Amino acid sequence: MATNWGSLLQDEQQLEELARQAVDRALAEGVLLRTSQEPTSSDVVSYAPFTLFPSLVPSALLEQAYAVQMDFNMLVDAVSQNAAFLEQTLASTIKRDDFTARLFDIHKQVLKEGIAQFSPQTVFLGLNRSDYMFQCSADGSPVLKQIEINTISASFGGLASRTPAVHRHVLSVLSKTKEAAKILSNNPSKGLALGIAKAWELYGSANALVLLIAQEKERNIFDQRAIENELLARNIHVIRRRFEAISEKGSLDQDRRLFVDGQEVAVVYFRDGYMPCQYSLQNWEARLLLERSCAVKCPDIATQLAGTKKVQQELSRAGMLEMLLPGQPEAVARLRATFAGLYSLDMGEEGDQAIAEALAAPSRFVLKPQREGGGNNLYGEEMVQALKQLKDSEERASYILMEKIEPEPFENCLLRPGSPVQVVQCISELGIFGVYVRQGKTLVMNKHVGHLLRTKAIEHADGGVAAGVAVLDNPYPV
Ligand code: ADP
Ligand code: MG
Repeated sequence: MATNWGSLLQDEQQLEELARQAVDRALAEGVLLRTSQEPTSSDVVSYAPFTLFPSLVPSALLEQAYAVQMDFNMLVDAVSQNAAFLEQTLASTIKRDDFTARLFDIHKQVLKEGIAQFSPQTVFLGLNRSDYMFQCSADGSPVLKQIEINTISASFGGLASRTPAVHRHVLSVLSKTKEAAKILSNNPSKGLALGIAKAWELYGSANALVLLIAQEKERNIFDQRAIENELLARNIHVIRRRFEAISEKGSLDQDRRLFVDGQEVAVVYFRDGYMPCQYSLQNWEARLLLERSCAVKCPDIATQLAGTKKVQQELSRAGMLEMLLPGQPEAVARLRATFAGLYSLDMGEEGDQAIAEALAAPSRFVLKPQREGGGNNLYGEEMVQALKQLKDSEERASYILMEKIEPEPFENCLLRPGSPVQVVQCISELGIFGVYVRQGKTLVMNKHVGHLLRTKAIEHADGGVAAGVAVLDNPYPV
């Protein structure tokens, strides 16, 4: 490692003092979460967990991840418009996975009613985050490999804009002024807000609002507020409502314009609705109502489906990218370079072989169901048990198998409220935020808008910041 921050410290006491300074700066900068005890109130808040030091990331990989983001935006958009691809890809999954099946039912229903009938000028908005790890290759050099793409509720763009100041502070305390200046500025929430603002503008109704679909218990409120604040600064008003309120107070007029509490909605931004437990019968009805409306949905149901692990796995099949992005060989090559090994578990020989390989070398694979939000994947012995159980059942089609990425661990210090300050072995996951807006057939915006680095101790196989495993970090480009 070129820079070993820990070696700059004399002793444990200095580490603890530095951590105290870092925490106070994080609080002052607004790197905040509500507490798990009081997730519905901002009366008592604490800092969002973060690393004491920025983690080293090769500049070339950062640049590669940024460069491929517009391709991923186009790809997600292409998948969401390709009903035949979605239907074929998800056919086996929806037979065995209720959640995906319900999303797919709404997709079918909306298609049947004809989204296109709203107007050839219908607006689509994608706010996504593509996540990567740095695979340690045979010669020891790190290679960018995609973990997944999040097409719904991609979070931490707000807090990620506040953490650079914290790491600059830490390095300044250590008199590392030149190094402090190397921490990249980052403002994903502004970029995400500009995407929402563009969609709002194209929707074209000066008094219409942005509707944020919120959870009842939202610890990550400050992350969301960062986007709301950017919108308000542009005179675009945001209302936060839960699904329940939509089913009670939401309605469509004869042109399918969406109204909530009598106010017209231009853009619906989902920060809820990506996990099965977030849907009661009433909530499914609300989701359907929103999808049927002509408000811009972020994401619409097809785009949410485009973010499933099953779609990710099918995209890695030979010829798929070429079919979805015809005439764009360079984009296809950039995308493919980031793909790890992905294997279908559909019934049949191909799936049988994947299972046999995973059982023979469990440490090289991850078993993934069609879920978001962390903590759902299976590794090691647990994966073996699950595979043995699933092997002869059609249920296996609701999972995919993925090559396990093994980054080179490094030392950092994870700061969490109530936890002792300790140097541990870590690995990082880099996310790049992407924004696109399409009106009818025309892509009017396609951008990357910032990054998120999350770091976790190596003993945790799975999980992000919200799941309490990873913490916020910044890339220190080398
Ligand atoms: P989710 O939608 O739940 O976030 P992910 O695919 O992002 O699902 O997996 C959750 C976490 O599991 C990731 O943040 C990462 O830490 C770990 N993980 C996922 N896939 C792999 C993989 N192929 N290799 C190594 N770790 C992985
Ligand atoms: Mg993830």
